[in-house]
Amino acid sequence: MDAEEFRRRGKEMVDLVADYLENIEDRPVYPDVEPGYLRSLIPTEAPQDPENYEDIIKDVERVIMPGITHWHSPNFFAYFPTASSYPAMLADMLCGAIGCIGFSWAASPACTELETVMLDWLGKMLQLPECFLAGTHGQGGGVIQGTASEATLMSLLAARCKAVRRIQATNSDMSEMEILSKLVAYTSDQAHSSVERAALIGGVKMKKVPTDEHYAVRKDMFMKMVEEDKADGLLPFYFCATLGTTPSCAFDKTEELGPLCNEENMWMHIDAAYAGSAFICPEFRPLLNGVEFADSFNFNPHKWLLINFDCSAMWVKKRADLIGAFKMDPLYLKHENQESGLVTDYRHWQIPLGRRFRSLKMWFVFRMYGLNGLQAYIRKHVVLAKEFESLVRADKRFEICADVVLGLVCFRLKGSNELNQNLLKRITQCREIHLVPCQLSGRFVLRFAICARKIESHHVQKAWQHITQLTFELLQEPEH
Ligand SMILES: *Cc1c(COP(=O)(O)O)cnc(C)c1O
Repeated sequence: MDAEEFRRRGKEMVDLVADYLENIEDRPVYPDVEPGYLRSLIPTEAPQDPENYEDIIKDVERVIMPGITHWHSPNFFAYFPTASSYPAMLADMLCGAIGCIGFSWAASPACTELETVMLDWLGKMLQLPECFLAGTHGQGGGVIQGTASEATLMSLLAARCKAVRRIQATNSDMSEMEILSKLVAYTSDQAHSSVERAALIGGVKMKKVPTDEHYAVRKDMFMKMVEEDKADGLLPFYFCATLGTTPSCAFDKTEELGPLCNEENMWMHIDAAYAGSAFICPEFRPLLNGVEFADSFNFNPHKWLLINFDCSAMWVKKRADLIGAFKMDPLYLKHENQESGLVTDYRHWQIPLGRRFRSLKMWFVFRMYGLNGLQAYIRKHVVLAKEFESLVRADKRFEICADVVLGLVCFRLKGSNELNQNLLKRITQCREIHLVPCQLSGRFVLRFAICARKIESHHVQKAWQHITQLTFELLQEPEH
């Protein structure tokens, strides 16, 4: 493909993308294919000779689209939202064109510097305490990780390294192996599975703290566990709090947990993967109170802040904790302007070496929407969730299963788990809307998450009509 053809095909692709997204409602939100469907639709080997672009594009509709779950359909209410906006997609095109690998400042100064400034911009939108910002003299700062999972892992590894160094400084007779075998990390029993995985990868014990009736970790329960573990000779070193849990969007009590972590020399990381975006609105900012006690904080603008995957924003209070844990400096990566108040090498902040120019899409989105536009977007989703909540509450056959704080509604039919499983089965089979379940206090619960950028009240109303129609049919059946 030469530049001439690229210009033409590129314009066609932009049309294809806009047509796809503007007409996405015409497609069933959930695919109707069997496992292995795709292999039979394409050759078993890569072509020997070049093919036509037209043939490839034709195959997108034939091969790919039948196997797509349309995450940006206004009939998609599963998981949590994944962000999508035109400015972010355009910025990603430019990122592809520049195609730099920004592991160090010298590897493309703009790539590093824009990221530092964008994380400061975003940190200010969230009113993060000054200590998390890089500024020009700060000890803290932000970085874009690929996912919240990576951010959690990085924080756990940095905390592990810091704990080993601290304990060895006062117990020089203890070997590193001995310390590692006694370290214990904590998280909520509602935490995302990636938190437990971080501990598995990091090779440390992790204990789950039981939550209260609002699915939040509270100080009394946590303190009890820590005291017992210390009495058993274990070394508590890390706590991952969740603000906006995946099952029900519950909020751990970080204002009471934070001081405890600080007193006990435990690293507190906050995972706010979904809910974090809402903290740009002053009315939701109190949910972030307690962040001042945290060592690191992370959320996913790629979930709810209109910046396409992947863009997970992580801040640390002392960037030296992160950088100091993993520093490697082979000669071929050294340059004259390493680590200063103004410059950092992001390769020290993450697991891979290579990194894309992801801050471009933040820059485009922040400028095209403005803080007001982003706040309006969040607020609209919360209003729609409340609208769905009132529809559920008005129907005596149903119950709401957790506080509706942001864009997620957890609900179920009053009755057995089996009844609710059957309802969800019908919903999934109809393919008109898409939901996933969760388990809360042993009960099978349906999650209704406001997801699409273009969702409106009538989509919520239609989804509820559909759910009640299927419920009616289900309850008519003799076995119920
Ligand atoms: C979605 C989610 C994650 C995982 O996010 P990734 O970026 O895919 O790793 C982690 N924690 C919570 C609370 C989440 O909701």
